[in-house]
Amino acid sequence: EVLSRTSEVDIEGGWKIGAPVPYAALTKTFSLIEATTKRLEKTSLLTSFFLLVIRRSAKGDTHSLLQAVYLCIKKLSPDYVGVELGIGESLLVKAISESTGRSLAVVKADLKKEGDLGLNSKASQKTLFRPKSLTVPLVFTSLKEIALSSGHSSQTKKVSIITKLLAACQGGEAKYIIRSLEGKLRIGNAERTVLVALAHAAAFAENEESGKKLNKDKLTSRLEEAASIVKSVFSELPSYDLVIPALLTDGISNLRSTCKLTPGVPLKPMLAKPTKAIGEVLDRFENKRFTCEYKYDGERAQVHKLDDGVVGIFSRNSEDMSRKYPDLVEQLSHCVKQETKSFVLDAEAVAIDKTTEKLMPFQELSKRKRKDVKVEDIQVRVCLFAFDLLYLNGESLLQKPLVERRDLLRQHFQVVPGEFGFAKSSDGETTEEIQAFLEESVKDGCEGLMVKMLESDESHYEPSRRSVNWLKLKKDYLAGVGDSLDLVVVGGYYGKGKRTNVYGAFLLACFDADSEEHQTICKIGTGFSEEMLQMHWDTLRALEMDKPRGDIKVGGAKPDVWFEPKIVWEVLAADLSLSPIYTAAQGLVEERGISLRFPRFIRVRDDKSADDATGPEQIAEMYERQALAHRKGKHDKGGD
Ligand code: ATP
Repeated sequence: EVLSRTSEVDIEGGWKIGAPVPYAALTKTFSLIEATTKRLEKTSLLTSFFLLVIRRSAKGDTHSLLQAVYLCIKKLSPDYVGVELGIGESLLVKAISESTGRSLAVVKADLKKEGDLGLNSKASQKTLFRPKSLTVPLVFTSLKEIALSSGHSSQTKKVSIITKLLAACQGGEAKYIIRSLEGKLRIGNAERTVLVALAHAAAFAENEESGKKLNKDKLTSRLEEAASIVKSVFSELPSYDLVIPALLTDGISNLRSTCKLTPGVPLKPMLAKPTKAIGEVLDRFENKRFTCEYKYDGERAQVHKLDDGVVGIFSRNSEDMSRKYPDLVEQLSHCVKQETKSFVLDAEAVAIDKTTEKLMPFQELSKRKRKDVKVEDIQVRVCLFAFDLLYLNGESLLQKPLVERRDLLRQHFQVVPGEFGFAKSSDGETTEEIQAFLEESVKDGCEGLMVKMLESDESHYEPSRRSVNWLKLKKDYLAGVGDSLDLVVVGGYYGKGKRTNVYGAFLLACFDADSEEHQTICKIGTGFSEEMLQMHWDTLRALEMDKPRGDIKVGGAKPDVWFEPKIVWEVLAADLSLSPIYTAAQGLVEERGISLRFPRFIRVRDDKSADDATGPEQIAEMYERQALAHRKGKHDKGGD
């Protein structure tokens, strides 16, 4: 299918070997991907396009594929470099108005009607000379220039670059230029699809070069193997800048040895599965050695020390937080023993009381400025609790069992009270021991426990995976649905009575990364103090829209105002139910969507963006688990 589709994504004339990739070929591929809902078809279209890029790139050119991949994932650099695409709506409206000759009011009205700035954005052909056709490198560098320009005259500069781009657009190109600038392609193309397509295209290209003819079974297994290698390598070294050149130059089979965990490049952290009861933990770890650790209520911090002594601190989403935590960078030198040259630590940064050194809740930590913090101005003190060591003195430890990684951690670092500690742990085995440790953790100001496999292959560190070898057991879970959810605020309801000057309730949504769609899930009005409602009013008012944005799947929800989907809240609920109104996870468990019953606001998650919100698969999984627990409960009662 891939080979036959290459002619579909190809454009007529104009794409010679060694020439820059025509932007028209990329947007043609986008249109075809947008037109289908089938995941496999999306993957094969993208594979065909990448394969054409590889075939037509000059020898040794790895840049063309790299830039094409970046444009497909709406990024311009690895996450930790932080060059972000996405400019404000008002600036875009201005640029569109200037290049299309339509008034600001008309562009805005169109946006409200369509919920999509990309439509109707073709520039009017005012110029005498037709500008040259757009190419992928030109679009990529222009977008980068826009993202990097800051200061005084940057607005004018950005508008002028956008206007130039739009003037050169042909056919459907303008739509995708605008959408790229918004940071939303809306073609239903998740990053994992891009990774698979990249692996498949490289496998096809290698095969073509070797001149061998593989039968269907062999080819299928080659493709599967390539995808699994590329995905696992990328979770260890999430940098296309490094992975793509290695993939094209050294080949798929060498990728695991050429691209490895490297200090300075944050890897995607391992995540935990929620559990609702201690019994569930024991079921999972029966006859295995496991450890329970305090689940600290702070912010995840991946700490890297490079050979040259530079220290980097990265967030759960691989953002560079070194400028947020200059105190941690300083403190780190006290807890590292002499012989430790380079390392990668997995840890939690937790606010502590300055005098008593007691743990403080996450809310305290969130009072800190996010950037350019000066050590002398710091009010909220932070202690780092390390729970894993992933790299040490030039060697990756990911494949070692946790018990060994933990020993190495304790050998090479030392406790400095109030600055650095090891996550408190207990290798208990019975329900009573776990219960006692859980209560102790909560008394000490933690959220509960993380229960981890300690020995064997199952205790390896699994980058980017939400693994059953790490279970989280939060005190709150025991009575509720299990895990909390991180949801995007997409609508507001005006308050009544005492709350007339603020929003009294909100419409929340989950985020489906495959369709790039926010799916409504519940109305929430509980868990807010008056002070908080005022704060939410102040933040959300600026995001008000009269109509739902095009990527919100509304269903039957009818809030008084809509918000641009941007703010993420952590929410707990009593349980989940099927709903004729809301659209979350529609079609996954049943035709109907899933909704939260008795949702309660916990906190703002400003470390997560709208794209990191809980996904429909997780919600469907929670619903299924709840249904199963229900059936089991009934069955157990029957047995009595
Ligand atoms: P998730 O990361 O699972 O999507 P989340 O960011 O809301 O969700 P939680 O579900 O609360 O996080 O649990 C995982 C987080 O707990 C880790 O990302 C880490 O920040 C924190 N944490 C605190 N203590 C530990 C520990 N001992 N081991 C691992 N993680 C810990």
